[in-house]
Amino acid sequence: MDENLRAELLRRVDVDQAARTALDPDAMERADAENLPWLKQVIGDDGWPGRSAVGADGAAAAWLLVQHADRDPAFQRECLGLLTAAADAGEATTAHVAYLTDRVLLAEGRPQEYGTQITGQDSQWVPRRLRDPDHVDERRAAMSLGSMAEYLAHFADQGPPPPISIRCPHCGERVDFWPAETGDESAGECGGCGREIRFRLG
Ligand SMILES: [Zn+2]
Repeated sequence: MDENLRAELLRRVDVDQAARTALDPDAMERADAENLPWLKQVIGDDGWPGRSAVGADGAAAAWLLVQHADRDPAFQRECLGLLTAAADAGEATTAHVAYLTDRVLLAEGRPQEYGTQITGQDSQWVPRRLRDPDHVDERRAAMSLGSMAEYLAHFADQGPPPPISIRCPHCGERVDFWPAETGDESAGECGGCGREIRFRLG
């Protein structure tokens, strides 16, 4: 067991989670920017940190840091291959493979497989673009995940999703949007000046 690496993984996840719990975009950005080069170095030197090297909590921490490495989709895709091989060897969980698979597919502009990535639509939590939704529960079960309905209910229990709120460029009034998929355009009417406002989720 590499206790030093395990401790460093856990420390970095604590910083990541503190920034996300506080909904502090600057702290999130800073944590992600510090974690990415460090993680690349660790994985480049020693390969994927599996359970026997860093414990179940350290392996979960490594997965979470990669999940948040959205600024480098090619690295995320590479890690998905390493994580899948680790899961096959009993060194990582299939649930983590499912979450990272979905993240990578959506980043590549393709529909997700397991419905782990969700968004708000008309005050409901819904999966982001999903392949073959009728059979998602079978695919989830194969990765040791509960049903889609249970997953969405878990988020709904903590409250409804918030819309994205932007200021009208004409009058400054707040206009709420339910974002479509990343890259798609939404349109709404400003309650202040009545003009049509267009919004694209970057
Ligand atoms: Zn307006």
